[in-house]
Amino acid sequence: VKTEGKGSFRFFEARLFEEIRSRLETEVELRRALDERQFVVHYQPRVDLAAGATSSMEALVRWQRPGQGLTGPDRFIQLAEDTGLIVPLGEQVLDSVCRQLAEWTREGAALVPVSVNVSPRQFVQSDILAVFRGAVERYGIDPRLLEIEVTESSMMQDGLGEAAVFRQLRALGIKLCIDDFGTGYSSLSQLQKLRFDVLKIDRAFVLRIDHPEGGTLIASMIAMAHALGMRVVAEGVENQRQMQLLRTLGCDEGQGYYFSRPLAPAELERVTAR
Ligand code: C2E
Ligand code: CA
Ligand code: CA
Ligand code: CA
Repeated sequence: VKTEGKGSFRFFEARLFEEIRSRLETEVELRRALDERQFVVHYQPRVDLAAGATSSMEALVRWQRPGQGLTGPDRFIQLAEDTGLIVPLGEQVLDSVCRQLAEWTREGAALVPVSVNVSPRQFVQSDILAVFRGAVERYGIDPRLLEIEVTESSMMQDGLGEAAVFRQLRALGIKLCIDDFGTGYSSLSQLQKLRFDVLKIDRAFVLRIDHPEGGTLIASMIAMAHALGMRVVAEGVENQRQMQLLRTLGCDEGQGYYFSRPLAPAELERVTAR
């Protein structure tokens, strides 16, 4: 038993070492990726359930890693958060979105607003108002084309809910969305104080919409959001049944593979051109 224990300790140690080495390597690569602008933005439509038309899109970052194809955010966002690199990364994403919006404006494309995911770190470690104002001015775009998504849990953890910056961003014309709602334990009074424009129900609830309690839960989130004057979006809509149930419950918008996967700008233009 003793030797076995020692062996598994060594195994554990080796695994830990390997993990640390791999994280360091990825951090170095992330820094280089920022320098070389290897990040690209894909766009996923958000569909108005009553009208059946795209009402906005969410910007989702991907890493175009040399020799490795596209890497999804689940593989690098956490490390970017831990190292603080999420701040410059978030700024590159915003820059890329504003540049794209300016291009679509020039081309006379049918424009819809784009929502951008913002990490709590960006609120704490950078002047987010100046960053957004700067990007809007750099490309001369209408700030009403931008929406910010902040997760419910990050807002509660970091006490961001109190931040005056939300009021200033709204005064600029930028809309605000609570992301992943239902996973963050905010109170009704906190929600009332925030005065956000959009509430996005987390995918986990849409997955359980078929269960009796699941439907009731979503119905009460929708009622509460509407009472506070917010539009409701359901994320992770994967089939027609979920879409129809959500529409029946009065949900305003849906987003998910049922409508479209996140697409590169060129793919998106091909879809909307038809
Ligand atoms: P999120 O903000 O909750 O974004 C939705 C995620 O669900 C996206 O994953 C999207 O591709 C995926 N998704 C969309 N429809 C469906 C569906 O029908 N079924 C399923 N199973 N999934 C669906 P993605 O692109 O891998 O992004 C993962 C997370 O990474 C995002 O979750 C967000 O928290 C973060 N993220 C992405 N881009 C950025 C960014 O620019 N900045 C920051 N701070 N975070 C980002
Ligand atoms: Ca989001
Ligand atoms: Ca979400
Ligand atoms: Ca989610």
